Amino acid sequence: MKGWEKNIRRVTPYTPGEQPDCPQMIKLNTNENPYPPAPGVRRALEALDTDRLRLYPDPAAGRLVKALAKRLCLGEDQIFVGVGSDDVLAMCFLTFFNSKKPILFPDISYSFYPVWAELFGVPYETPALDEDFRIRKEDYFRENGGIIFPNPNAPTSLLLESRDVEEIIARNPDVIVIVDEAYIDFAESPSALELLGKYDNLLVVQTFSKSRAMCGMRIGYAVGSPELIRCLNDVKYSFNSYTMSLPALELGAASVEEEDYFQETVGKIKATRKRSLKALRELGFSCPQSSANFIFASHPDCPARELFEALKREHIYVRYFSKPRIDNYLRITIGTDAEMDTLLETLQRLLSKKNPN
Ligand SMILES: *Cc1c(COP(=O)(O)O)cnc(C)c1O
Repeated sequence: MKGWEKNIRRVTPYTPGEQPDCPQMIKLNTNENPYPPAPGVRRALEALDTDRLRLYPDPAAGRLVKALAKRLCLGEDQIFVGVGSDDVLAMCFLTFFNSKKPILFPDISYSFYPVWAELFGVPYETPALDEDFRIRKEDYFRENGGIIFPNPNAPTSLLLESRDVEEIIARNPDVIVIVDEAYIDFAESPSALELLGKYDNLLVVQTFSKSRAMCGMRIGYAVGSPELIRCLNDVKYSFNSYTMSLPALELGAASVEEEDYFQETVGKIKATRKRSLKALRELGFSCPQSSANFIFASHPDCPARELFEALKREHIYVRYFSKPRIDNYLRITIGTDAEMDTLLETLQRLLSKKNPN
C-alpha cells in the first residue's frame, strides 16, 4: 500500500440508471418525461446570444429565481437554485444535517440519501416502510438530527397525505424537515409549499427534471424561509459561486413562464398512468396506486429480474433494484401512449410464454 492511499476518501457512489445509446429503444428507466420541454424553451435557446458566454453567469441566478418566485407567489429570498435537485439536496445535507443525532429517512427511498450521508459523515437511521410500502409517520416522532423523505416516495410511487406530512413537520420543531417533491406535480395532493407560512423548519425541494422535461438542463430548487435560504447560499458560495449556467437560467425561466403547456403535458402523463396501471393489473401485476410518473410493479408468476432482462433484450429499458424487499419489483416510467402499448404487448407475450395456459 502506498503512503498516500490511506489519505484517500473512499465512498460507494450512487448508481444512476443506464443511459443506453440505442436509437430504437423505449426508455422507461430514469423517470424522464416523454414530451419535449415547453416551446418557449426552444425559443429561448435559439435566442441565446453566445457572446454572453464570455461573461460569468449571475451568481445569484436572478432571472430564474425571479421567475420561480413569481410562479410560486413567494419572495425571491425564499428560493435557492442548484444544478438539479441532486445538487440542491447535497447542499442541504451539508447545511442542515450537522447534528450528532442520526437523521431519519425511509429504508426504501431515494438511494442517493445514504450516499450523501456517508460522504458527509452524517449519522443516519432508516425506519422501515410498512408492508404496503407506506411511510409510518410515528417512526419520525422521536429524537433525530433532521428528516428527509421524498413525497411521493420513490421507487414506491406512494403519496403521504398532506396532514401526515404536516404532522411530521409539526412534531420536529428543533430539526430541519426536507420534503423532496421531485414527483409532486403528478400527485393529486397539494405540495408542502402550502405549509411554509406555518413552519420555519420546513424546506421543500423540487426539480425541473421530471414534470418540466428538462433533466438534461440540470435545474432544481429549494424553497423555505429567508433564514434557511441564506444558510444554503452561504454554503453554496463556499463551494462554487457560479453553479447555474447562462443557458440554465434563461431556459429554466422560459419553462416556468409557460404554465399552460406544463399543465397539459402533466395531464397527459397522468392519463397514460391511469390506463397503464389498469392494463398492468389486468396482466396480473400488483402495483401500488401511483402518484408519480412511474409505476412500481411486481408479478406473482415471473421474477422481476427475469422480466427486466427479457425487456432489455427487446430494447425496452425499465429500472430494477437488486435490494432487499424490492428485488421482485420493476419501476416503470410512464412514456407516451404508444411506448406503453409496446411495453404492455411485450409483457403480455413474455408472460404467456412463461405460463402457456
Ligand atoms: C429524480 C430525483 C431527484 C433528482 O433529480 P435531479 O435531476 O437532480 O433534479 C431527486 N429526488 C428524487 C426522489 C428523484 O426521483
